[in-house]
Amino acid sequence: MESLRVDAVVIGAGPGGYVAGIRLGQLGKKALVVERDKAGGVCLNVGCIPSKALINAAKLYEKMRHGADMGLLADNPRVDMAKLQSWKDGVVGKLSGGVRQLLKANGCDWRSGTARLLAPGKVEIQGSGADAGKTIQVDAEHIVIATGARPVQIPGFAFDGKRVLDSTGALALPEVPRRLVVIGAGYIGMEIGTLFAKLGSQVTFVEALPSILSGSEPDCVQVVARKAKQLGIEILVDAKATGWSEQGDRAVVTVATAAGQRQIDADKILVAVGRQPNSEDLGLQTVGVRVERGFIPVDSKMRTSVAGIYAIGDVVGQPQLAHKASRQAEVVAEVIAGRATEMDATVIPSVVFTDPEIASAGMGAADAEKRGLQITLGKFPLLALGRAIANNDTDGFVKVVVEKGSRKVLGVHIVANGAGDLIAEAALAIEMGALAGDIAGTIHAHPTLPEAIMEAAKAALGEAIHIQNRR
Ligand code: NAD
Repeated sequence: MESLRVDAVVIGAGPGGYVAGIRLGQLGKKALVVERDKAGGVCLNVGCIPSKALINAAKLYEKMRHGADMGLLADNPRVDMAKLQSWKDGVVGKLSGGVRQLLKANGCDWRSGTARLLAPGKVEIQGSGADAGKTIQVDAEHIVIATGARPVQIPGFAFDGKRVLDSTGALALPEVPRRLVVIGAGYIGMEIGTLFAKLGSQVTFVEALPSILSGSEPDCVQVVARKAKQLGIEILVDAKATGWSEQGDRAVVTVATAAGQRQIDADKILVAVGRQPNSEDLGLQTVGVRVERGFIPVDSKMRTSVAGIYAIGDVVGQPQLAHKASRQAEVVAEVIAGRATEMDATVIPSVVFTDPEIASAGMGAADAEKRGLQITLGKFPLLALGRAIANNDTDGFVKVVVEKGSRKVLGVHIVANGAGDLIAEAALAIEMGALAGDIAGTIHAHPTLPEAIMEAAKAALGEAIHIQNRR
């Protein structure tokens, strides 16, 4: 048995764990990252990155097919899914290799294997990959749990990797399925369902709630729902998938809706109904770490209920977003290094990479009103923006939520292709306590999409230039 002594051991190498490892190294701490799979975790290997590669390709394909509007003729475009998948795998491979290099460059050690806590300060690793067959005992004053989350399964739809897929299976499909049923119209379902609709699948959503993307601003969601309809996507809301059966060459999904029961033919079924924390089999009970409904509660310094044990990322709870995990990773590394740091973000932006994208930072309109705040809204449609018209992509708008009186920007919500990039300005503005006048008075380069944020802020003040202001 091999024994190691380090300052900190980080369990998991996703956007939480690997960032913690890098930052610990930068701060002069001897750190070790343990991962049972690949560097970069779910996000880089089977989530954010591969989905964005495929979403981008699907968008380009759709543009090619509709280029004739702009006088661009691409006759008979087709999808070579095998080639697309191998290109996507190349993107992922490049980034995963980069993470290993960054860890190394920052002096952070790496072990492949599955880790378990034996006691505070003690971790055991059952090696895999390059460390296969080894049992490694690690003594570490600090332990960081960054083990992430996995897809939730629902009764009657056990993942089988053939008909019933999770997001990992769907993103690795070697062919475009002719008919795809997606259960759950949240982040994952909407992103992947839309991409396959563009590649040619006939897509049907089965969503239990009365709306798709129920966490997003309803007026933003309307724009996405309209576009989904144009893409030929069928959306069933208030609907419950109760089971499926193999019938000849296809699966038949049974769905209970208000209008009665429906049978839907499918070649593949994607189940995307949420993700549950990976907190079992870690020895948390043995060492006395408090766990609530699978999640590990932490304070603003990412400390669990046991001294010397920390947790970050999806395993600590919502929002389950990579960039939240990465920020928490920086915080935990600095806390371990003795710095007076804590997680004190005012906003954590979110982006759903649908068509168009929905990006949000800060409070929604209903949110703000629920908190008893008096608000004014400034809204600017892309139809009035020169750059959006020139891009031939005018679906959407920017909405700024401003507190009446103080004129403080409380939230920004964007539905637009490019919203994912645009939201950074809004997050910075809110984080710095900007007033609507700060955004309105900042000169934005013309002709660009961010001008829509400036115009929306002006609209909140009744001073928009390119639309009629409300009196
Ligand atoms: P989600 O919570 O976003 O959506 C799940 C959806 O499934 C909800 O609309 C819910 O009402 C519905 N649902 C639940 N049970 C159902 C059932 N039995 N039948 C029909 N519908 C049902 O979860 P997700 O899409 O699985 O994504 C998981 C997490 O991953 C998200 O919370 C998000 O934080 C993260 N994620 C983020 C991004 C991004 O940042 N772009 C992309 C993908 C995933």
